[in-house]
Amino acid sequence: MSDRTGILLVVSGPSGSGKTTLCHRLSDEREAHYSISCTTRAPRPGEKNGEDYHFLTIEAFEAKLAAGEFLEHAQVHGNFYGTLRTEVLGYLAAGTDVVMDIDVQGAAQVRACADPAIVRSRVDLFVMPPSEHELHARLAGRATDSDEVIALRMKNALEEMHHWPEYTYRLLSSTREEDYMRFKALVVAERLRVSRLNGA
Ligand code: 5GP
Repeated sequence: MSDRTGILLVVSGPSGSGKTTLCHRLSDEREAHYSISCTTRAPRPGEKNGEDYHFLTIEAFEAKLAAGEFLEHAQVHGNFYGTLRTEVLGYLAAGTDVVMDIDVQGAAQVRACADPAIVRSRVDLFVMPPSEHELHARLAGRATDSDEVIALRMKNALEEMHHWPEYTYRLLSSTREEDYMRFKALVVAERLRVSRLNGA
């Protein structure tokens, strides 16, 4: 058992900000558990069920929603996304840090959640792309998405970017290494908070 409760690191930012890469790397380096979301969107080439997402039909998603299995859920880019309670709560109680890659609506729900285990653990970060121009280049560089999908993501990204003042931390993206160094520094600092230590 750990000497502290886990951190719930909520990471948002538009598609193309680099947030998913940051979250996966933290988990690959065994620094945190990556909360695998449920989604009704189709898998992209290379994505694995149960690793990147739990890919569900709309019916299966709705059944989980009705059963109260989601900590938060939202509709993003026309698809449903949700975080299962089981991806978060047990890990936090065991002192394992959890990283969630979720949109601004989901982050607002986590912020509004009154569960003491969530209140104690949450930290939120908004990852901003360096510029509109660079964001478009990053989205267009993902050969897996069609022009319509890129245009929709660009429009949503610009809307989503207005929400950064709701977050405690903001990371303005530069290079992958620089971003990860600052991301990791945030995690390391949060681990030192007295309020997380058992016996405090
Ligand atoms: P993508 O389809 O590109 O993987 O993700 C689209 C958006 O959905 C991203 O902003 C991502 O952070 C968000 N997202 C992924 N999983 C969840 C989730 O469980 N809940 C919410 N609210 N948003 C999510």
